[in-house]
Amino acid sequence: MPELPEVEALASFLREHAVGQVVASVEVAAISVLKTYDPPPTALGGLTVVGVARRGKFVDLDVDGLHLVMHLARAGWLRWRDTLPASAARPGKGPLALRVRFASGAGFELTEAGTRKGLAVHVVRDPAAIEGIARLGPEPLDEQFTAEVFARILAEHGRTQIKGLLRNQSVIAGIGNAYSDEVLHVARMSPYKLAGSLSGDEVAGLYRAIRETLLDAVARSAGLEASDLKDAKRAGMRVHGRAGEACPVCGDTVREVSFADSALQYCPTCQTGGKPLADRRLSRLLK
Ligand SMILES: [Zn+2]
Repeated sequence: MPELPEVEALASFLREHAVGQVVASVEVAAISVLKTYDPPPTALGGLTVVGVARRGKFVDLDVDGLHLVMHLARAGWLRWRDTLPASAARPGKGPLALRVRFASGAGFELTEAGTRKGLAVHVVRDPAAIEGIARLGPEPLDEQFTAEVFARILAEHGRTQIKGLLRNQSVIAGIGNAYSDEVLHVARMSPYKLAGSLSGDEVAGLYRAIRETLLDAVARSAGLEASDLKDAKRAGMRVHGRAGEACPVCGDTVREVSFADSALQYCPTCQTGGKPLADRRLSRLLK
């Protein structure tokens, strides 16, 4: 799933390729991805893309004052094509969900693999009308996101496990399951630690880890084509998605436990004093 660095790279890719293009048509192949009906997607026809912004994990295309806002969710992706097939996309069973065709003949397609559908497209006059955008917390790479702001956030959510807090979009925008694993590994912190229990040094260290991890990933993905972003993300991971492999810092084996609706990965030596975390779901099943 694309998070802040990849969505930032997608937005800058679209800024380069889509700004100035006139929308010829928006073809909806999977009606379920469309979350709004007024204005209809056909209202974008004939209008010009004038800007592209990232808001958390959303990409926002400003099309002459109307906004086409996309959230790729877990398995959604964006594919740019210099030349789109001439025939319009039709509803079907394939991964193609939506196609934006420009008058130049180029365009992009949104696809979604798998059965857990989360890809969402909105056409709105004001992006703030989208609930997921209205409730976004601060952007972690903004200047206003200072160590003091972060300390206040931790204090306000003192009873929350730090892993869950980092990926909560209404607390901090743009960090998901992958980068929260990475940030916690850089900060050498247990994902189960409660936000309110961090010392001053730990708060400062975690703040630095957030900024460094995201800035590194943004730099790595900058300038990449949409098609190369997934591989770049995977290659840059230290522990996320690497259960069973060696920790690049200490050589211990990266472990995995279930967390919320998925799993998290961590290094016991670097993060939990050498002690593997109990898998709560598993221990519940064994009782
Ligand atoms: Zn380690």
